[in-house]
Amino acid sequence: MTRKLFLEDAYQRSCTARVEAITAEGGVVLDQSVFYATSGGQPGDSGWLRLSGGAEAAIGTCIKGEDDVLVLLPAEGPIDGLRVGDSVEAVLDWDRRFAHMAMHTSLHLLCASVDAGVTGGSIGAEKSRLDFDLEESPDKEALEERLNALIAGAHAVSASTITAEELDARPELVRTMSVAPPRDASGLIRVVRIGAEGDSVDFQPCGGTHVANTSDIGRVRVGKIEKKGRQNRRINIHWEPAAA
Ligand SMILES: [Zn+2]
Repeated sequence: MTRKLFLEDAYQRSCTARVEAITAEGGVVLDQSVFYATSGGQPGDSGWLRLSGGAEAAIGTCIKGEDDVLVLLPAEGPIDGLRVGDSVEAVLDWDRRFAHMAMHTSLHLLCASVDAGVTGGSIGAEKSRLDFDLEESPDKEALEERLNALIAGAHAVSASTITAEELDARPELVRTMSVAPPRDASGLIRVVRIGAEGDSVDFQPCGGTHVANTSDIGRVRVGKIEKKGRQNRRINIHWEPAAA
């Protein structure tokens, strides 16, 4: 299996790693990875692999492979001269990843601001969306105000794990009807909390990457609210990063 460094510290931008395998298509399996693999509506990370000889190869994305490994897919096909056992440095396209973290955390806040089940969703660097099991569209201005108040509230974001039994006892935690809660190799489920324990803004199973504090997001704008079927409303949000 690949050690998923992004679950331990989402702000780690690079790591050294050992090449464990190279797939027939040239995909690179590392012993540990700062690259997030496409899942749960969040795109896989892009970036670069720096080889021991000094050469650099662009990585287009990262996907899940079999046996709990992550596979980094080179942007331009198999990497010349790369061998199993080599030591490499894996470096994220941090601007893109941070945008995914800000957007992903914003979707948790959106989920907490709309009283309905989530039927789907997608995260992009500039625009993201959630689909809700809703008959009426919520008020756009009020929703935008609520989201930005939560962001400005500077709530801490933290992750922990619970057992399957604990989750079964609290079915209300599973907000996303279309995605199974993420389980690690030992069967534990990762849960993400926004806000303090006992006074949370949001608390639900999630295997994605998030900002450490909602104030890191900046602002969001609520875009189009689309009617996708009688009992489905798609809410789009756009990211307006905090000034550097
Ligand atoms: Zn999440």
